[in-house]
Amino acid sequence: MQQARLHSAEFDIVSLFVFGVYHMDFEFTVEQEAFRLEVRNFLEDEIKKDSFRPMCDGWIQGFSRNFTKKMAAKGWLGITWPREYGGQGRSQMDRLILNEEILRYGAPAACHWVAEGQIGQAIYTYGTEEQKQEMLPKILKGEICFGLGMSEPDTGSDLASLVTRAVEDGDYYIINGQKMWTTCAGYMTHIFLLARTDPAAPKQKGISQFIIDAKLPGITIRPTTDITGREAWGEVFFDNVRIHKTCLFGKKNRGFYQILNQLDYERSGMEWLMGNYLLFDAIIKFSKETKRNGTPVCEDPLIRSRLAQLQVEFEVGRMLIYRVAQVMEKGKVPNVEAAIAKTFCTTWEQHLAGIATDILGLYGQLWKESKYAPVTGMAPLSFLGSKGSSLQAGSNEILKSIVATRGLGLPSATQEISYK
Ligand SMILES: Cc1cc2nc3c(=O)[nH]c(=O)nc-3n(C[C@H](O)[C@H](O)[C@H](O)COP(=O)(O)OP(=O)(O)OC[C@H]3O[C@@H](n4cnc5c(N)ncnc54)[C@H](O)[C@@H]3O)c2cc1C
Repeated sequence: MQQARLHSAEFDIVSLFVFGVYHMDFEFTVEQEAFRLEVRNFLEDEIKKDSFRPMCDGWIQGFSRNFTKKMAAKGWLGITWPREYGGQGRSQMDRLILNEEILRYGAPAACHWVAEGQIGQAIYTYGTEEQKQEMLPKILKGEICFGLGMSEPDTGSDLASLVTRAVEDGDYYIINGQKMWTTCAGYMTHIFLLARTDPAAPKQKGISQFIIDAKLPGITIRPTTDITGREAWGEVFFDNVRIHKTCLFGKKNRGFYQILNQLDYERSGMEWLMGNYLLFDAIIKFSKETKRNGTPVCEDPLIRSRLAQLQVEFEVGRMLIYRVAQVMEKGKVPNVEAAIAKTFCTTWEQHLAGIATDILGLYGQLWKESKYAPVTGMAPLSFLGSKGSSLQAGSNEILKSIVATRGLGLPSATQEISYK
């Protein structure tokens, strides 16, 4: 595995250019280095035991309850959560180190990634005491898996236009509508749902959030086969689904504003940069070990230059995400910072896939099922899969609009944009 260690001096110099006034100066502490090693040793042992096979996009495509349970048993779920909610109150840096290694080794973390990284924090911030008591311990034990039910057939970037309805009926709400691109649809135990509760109000002000059991009568889930042929997402249909009012999450009709806040956290992680890191490692190894016309591929000046450029951009992306963690460490919501990092990192992921495909040549387009596929067929998978990264959790155009308005203070182009 390639060691991509940041040196503080390099970090300082680049930070001056990249971050302007945000000067950063840090080194990993002895404890952090030891923690990274502990995580690496654990992951390497698991690979040796064949408990998982490293895969691209393992954070969102690798569903292994067994792996998630092992993470829970190590105490590695919710490490930054407050102690009062069963967490360990550890730093955002520790969590980033943990996730960086999970991604570097392509571990199958999809059963807990969303719940641990996004939902747990939302629950202890906005949830009722009952929701905290019920959900947080289950997330920490790796027992529940969440799907994100925001997008609809006619609702994507303009999230506030959603039409799924939740109508009050005594102590209950009745849900009707359809969601699509719901993460983890085939595995989820719960849906984090956004639905319209006040159709008469301005569109952003009539939406509420709910946490609901994915097995309730009236819910039908149809897997979505994505561009890579995989089925990590799905469509979810709600046909008169009856949920108790205790499923309301946060404040009624404030769901849209709550989700904006949660999306900032969804955009904050290392997965947008390192989801396909295995391909980067593999392509470097390939270029060293493969000869064309008697000459190692890595001696081609154009290929060397492109690989080096990838490494330069990788380091910048990594620093942008460490900066996001620093913002979170200070207790601030990483809004513009996460938008910048995600835009840059998903673009890098697409560069990586394109360059890898070029270097591998025509064989590089073969899928893993072919015995002739180089680097285990990761290139076409990553080439196609990385297209979705710059759409999900807010497309790059929408994220740039956040940077333009909230980062640069430019006037908003339209009041209609809902920043998803
Ligand atoms: C792999 C993947 C996973 C996903 N996971 C989930 C999930 O778990 N849960 C969920 O609810 N949704 C999920 N989504 C849906 C995702 O959030 C939407 O695809 C995304 O918000 C874009 O919406 P759209 O597809 O309707 O495109 P549109 O909103 O129709 O946008 C089409 C294009 O127009 C651009 N555009 C739109 N509005 C503007 C504007 N105002 N200014 C400039 N450009 C604009 C967009 O950037 C995009 O390029 C996922 C999508 C993908 C591809």
